[in-house]
Amino acid sequence: MCGIFGITDNKDASKLTYVGLFTLQHRGQESAGIVTDDGGTLRHNIGMGLVSEVFTKDALESLKGRSAIGHIRYSTTGSSHLKNAQPLVLDSVLGQVAVAHNGNLTNADALKEKLQKGGAIFQSTSDTEVILHLMAKHRGRKLEDTLAKNLPKLEGAYAFLFMAPGIVIGARDPNGYRPLVLGKIGKSFILASETCAIDVAGGTAIRELAPGEMVVIQGGKARFRRFSPVKDFTRCIFEQVYFARPDSSVAGRTVQTARYEIGALLAKELKNVKADIVSGVPDSGTVYALGYSKESGIPYQTVFMRNHYTGRSFIQPDQRLREFTAHLKLAPIRDVIQGKTIILIDDSLVRGTTSRKIVKSLMKAGAKKIIMAIASPAIISPCYYGIDTPNKGELIACRMSTEKIRRFIGADKLHYLSLGSLVSACGGRRDRNFCVSCFTGKYPGKGGL
Ligand code: AMP
Repeated sequence: MCGIFGITDNKDASKLTYVGLFTLQHRGQESAGIVTDDGGTLRHNIGMGLVSEVFTKDALESLKGRSAIGHIRYSTTGSSHLKNAQPLVLDSVLGQVAVAHNGNLTNADALKEKLQKGGAIFQSTSDTEVILHLMAKHRGRKLEDTLAKNLPKLEGAYAFLFMAPGIVIGARDPNGYRPLVLGKIGKSFILASETCAIDVAGGTAIRELAPGEMVVIQGGKARFRRFSPVKDFTRCIFEQVYFARPDSSVAGRTVQTARYEIGALLAKELKNVKADIVSGVPDSGTVYALGYSKESGIPYQTVFMRNHYTGRSFIQPDQRLREFTAHLKLAPIRDVIQGKTIILIDDSLVRGTTSRKIVKSLMKAGAKKIIMAIASPAIISPCYYGIDTPNKGELIACRMSTEKIRRFIGADKLHYLSLGSLVSACGGRRDRNFCVSCFTGKYPGKGGL
């Protein structure tokens, strides 16, 4: 889980990268960084926190240059520390090279051990640095040749942005797990994790990079080059379920449209269930609930008021304040809730803690019955490709039956969307177009772990 954004040949490169990263902020809130190419010298500013916290106006203005790449991080591999914040910038036999990575490399440890035995000294504990060391060791004639040589050695998930003086290269792993889209604004090219960032920066999306493809942007032109044959195109379905912004387009389909349809399919699966109102856990649950309402005819109502200003800096309350602060982020709207049978939709159930809290809050506010509907199947297996799902021991669906989970969260009914409905609403065919390993335990290319 991370967001990446890059732009070339633009006098406002650092400012537009700020806009892009700001738009992708939902993909990670831990650190933010921008690297610019100032006439052949790479300049960088990387810090911990939100985009708006890391970059002041002065900081952006000092990031001179007509091309930039940026990154926002949500740590999956490597601890939460400034030295793991990206883009990583390395000065080596290759000259200055910067890299921004979204994804998770599954063979990073093995590669790192080998490189260290050969004398490589690592600056960070993140998996991303491995590619820079591989590139320094196995060089080609040009940067793109070096990449074409080394990217096939990586396993796992990656969308990469590389920058060296005069050149920006984007690359997507041969399974296409993580997203990467090419766009244009005037004569400038944009690369971004999601189309929403290209839109907000004033550009137009051209197309997603294909799995195993890189795009080389140099001298005002973009060229595509394949560095690996496509394995299975298995993009991560969790982008549509939870991760991507609703106004982004994934696999040619607006995420909001897919979620609305998922809501309608949930209603079909629960067609005999009666209720007074349907609602969603804000923000992601809302669109699902609207789709459900349209299909079922059950009126939609907002049952929670969400406060958008609860930042990371909020100090965890002690026992004394816990009661008072329980509704700080989501406050129940009593009048709407009292005496009602409510179908409540959330995108996913991971450890079960959110659903448990929310059901408790609704019951306390006077709800008669809660039917919890989850807009995805039960998560039974960890993600090795960059989504921050916990290990099996923490995944509630690994430890408990649906009935036990229902009792744990305190709902009167619990229903998970079927995998078939999810895949069809996202516009694909099961096990063909998507990685659904978190729901099945079968990992693409590995025949199941
Ligand atoms: P849990 O409380 O552990 O069951 O987590 C489920 C809630 O976390 C849902 O409300 C989701 O919207 C949200 N969620 C799902 N996946 C993730 C993730 N990878 N990182 C952060 N939040 C998530």
